[in-house]
Amino acid sequence: MTGWSWKIGRVAGIDVYMHGTFLILLAWVGMSHYLQRHRLADAGAGIVFILALFAIVVLHELGHALTARRFGIRTRDITLLPIGGVARLERMPDDPKQELLVALAGPAVNVVLAALLFGVVTPTTWHDMQWVGGDFLSKLMWVNVSLAVFNLIPAFPMDGGRALRAILAMRMDYVRATQIAAHIGQGVALLFGLVGLFSNPFLVFIALFVWMGAAAEASMTQMKSVLGGLPVSRVMITHFETLTATDTLQRALAHVLAGFQHDFPVVEAGRVVGVLTRADLMKGVTQKGADAPVAAAMTSHFDSVEPSEMLEGAVQRLQASGCPAMPVVRDGVLVGVLTMENVGEFLTIQSALRGGEAPRRASTAATTGTRSMPSPPPR
Ligand SMILES: [Zn+2]
Repeated sequence: MTGWSWKIGRVAGIDVYMHGTFLILLAWVGMSHYLQRHRLADAGAGIVFILALFAIVVLHELGHALTARRFGIRTRDITLLPIGGVARLERMPDDPKQELLVALAGPAVNVVLAALLFGVVTPTTWHDMQWVGGDFLSKLMWVNVSLAVFNLIPAFPMDGGRALRAILAMRMDYVRATQIAAHIGQGVALLFGLVGLFSNPFLVFIALFVWMGAAAEASMTQMKSVLGGLPVSRVMITHFETLTATDTLQRALAHVLAGFQHDFPVVEAGRVVGVLTRADLMKGVTQKGADAPVAAAMTSHFDSVEPSEMLEGAVQRLQASGCPAMPVVRDGVLVGVLTMENVGEFLTIQSALRGGEAPRRASTAATTGTRSMPSPPPR
């Protein structure tokens, strides 16, 4: 179990998790089906239908994951959320042709499933569809049609957005392709939001989701392109204060007030032994008083980085560590500090130098992944 997710199985060597909130969706669907005709059978059928829908979502995600595997990219896991599925790919392919194939593989699964179902049943038309009761296989066919159509909307984080970016990236550089794709996506989100305001409130929710997805993708790609190929030493902070383990917290407070620094490396005999973050400091002062030693409040589990390490990987580690500052160490000796704040500053400076538009905050990183969302819940 990770966080609020439970492992429900393993398909093709990939763990499939279910988010706890998914149970709420099941309960809600069962309830709303029951309330229409007050029949328990309806509630059961509704729940079975949702489970079938999410089995289809897993197949869709497997489409992405197994295509990525062909290009040597592993998938960490697939998680089912009430709004759809997420396959966490280790990374996205760098080759736009491969990215296009990975993006299209998910919706392709739904197209194939819809075609198969169309072969076995004479489906009820969408207009005459009864979502409560009604023909099970017809419902599944329409679910596949809507999953394919919905996910091909050309907007991040939908598959269509990635496909669009990949197609653009075959003709221009990756960052520009992402920016154009993100702008188109935000245009689509705006349209959805407006239409949703006057019709289905669920569309407003999707619009918000798409808008944020587009923004996150654009800033992430921009950050990667600016940081690509640069060593940590180019961006690290070199003017900073350090503390010793026996200093009092009072001394750390004085440094915070006198300068801009929030987080301090703690050094003993030339070696870094810990990091005192702003949060550690405030907690320490509240619980133990300002006269307590730094050693009593500092974090001793911290990650460090070499100045020659590439920024892209270092920033990922910094974000994953949960600690706002990472000591930069050469041969065991502290030579700098890496913080997200400083990386953000560097990005702003770079874009100002190039006369470009300022990037959004670098910390709004998006997870690499493919998502698929089911159509609005049937009523
Ligand atoms: Zn997908």
